[in-house]
Amino acid sequence: MIQLIYASQHQLHDPPTEYAQGDMMPYPEMPARADQIYHHLAGQAGVEVIEPHTPLSLESLMAVHDEGFVEFLREISTNLEQYWHSPLPDHGYLYPEVFPARRHMNRLRDSMVGQLGYYTFDVFAPIGKGTWQAALYSATVAATGAAQVLEGQASAVYALCRPPGHHAGYDFVGGYCYLNNAALAVNRLRELGRVAIIDIDYHHGNGTQHIFWDDPDVFTGSLHADPTFEYPYYSGFADEIGGSEAIHATHNIPLPLGTDGSTYRQAVHEMIEKAAAFEPSALVIPVGLDTFEDDPNCHFGLQLDDYVYIGKAIAEMGLPTLFVQEGGYNVEANGLLAEKLLEGFLS
Ligand SMILES: [Zn+2]
Repeated sequence: MIQLIYASQHQLHDPPTEYAQGDMMPYPEMPARADQIYHHLAGQAGVEVIEPHTPLSLESLMAVHDEGFVEFLREISTNLEQYWHSPLPDHGYLYPEVFPARRHMNRLRDSMVGQLGYYTFDVFAPIGKGTWQAALYSATVAATGAAQVLEGQASAVYALCRPPGHHAGYDFVGGYCYLNNAALAVNRLRELGRVAIIDIDYHHGNGTQHIFWDDPDVFTGSLHADPTFEYPYYSGFADEIGGSEAIHATHNIPLPLGTDGSTYRQAVHEMIEKAAAFEPSALVIPVGLDTFEDDPNCHFGLQLDDYVYIGKAIAEMGLPTLFVQEGGYNVEANGLLAEKLLEGFLS
């Protein structure tokens, strides 16, 4: 049986546009992404849907995020109008536009709009009235998934998180991400022992790496497009191996643009070998479906059978495993890609 964890509150977060090199385009991280996967999987035989109705406590969030950061996110989203000096734009979202440069501009100020820049690293995570509820329930979906893995009743547990989380760090939002769902799941699974993360999104999981950089009990692995050419540009390089307390607990495999299925499969094996050597007791897989050849954000060439293969390789680790939804912007294909991954995992 597959347990699919889903919360409809994600629909409360629906920013209108994204700033793309001087142009405005429709925001790709849209509610239809998660709903398409939900409708694709939920009707299938052997899939049980679990909907959490009690959100995670602030204390749980603060176990992986900075306290001031969590309070800021809740406060600005739930009282948006109070912090904007003129009427809110019709679309109802605040976009960060001033970022403190390092050294002389890096103090946290009283201004909420100033804090928006302070706690943000790019222009891709605007905040609206529903953003907090959506992010909170997305985090709750991940934690509920981890709890289901601990229960051990299902053959596979898939946390259908939206908004995604792997670009959100200890104290910053960015890249469509607000709270780090995978990190919250890891925190729950730690009661089993060491936990390994294998992030298979097209982009480096910079936020997850930031959170566990100095943690010797969490292996943070990510395979992704070479950040020399792809977002997030400043992290995800092979020489990032963890902080002084956790050397070699971080492992990045940057892959060239144009990577095809066979090169990707080899990288998956290399990553699995590294993760297995860490002797983890549980596994968290941040799932980006944006490695698909027909994804609009992608320059890899993965095809359907590659997802089956990846799922099977992960299953061979023989560990309690949680899948956590991250990217994937081909709305029509997402559900089928998730199905293929699970098909391989259960084969
Ligand atoms: Zn991505």
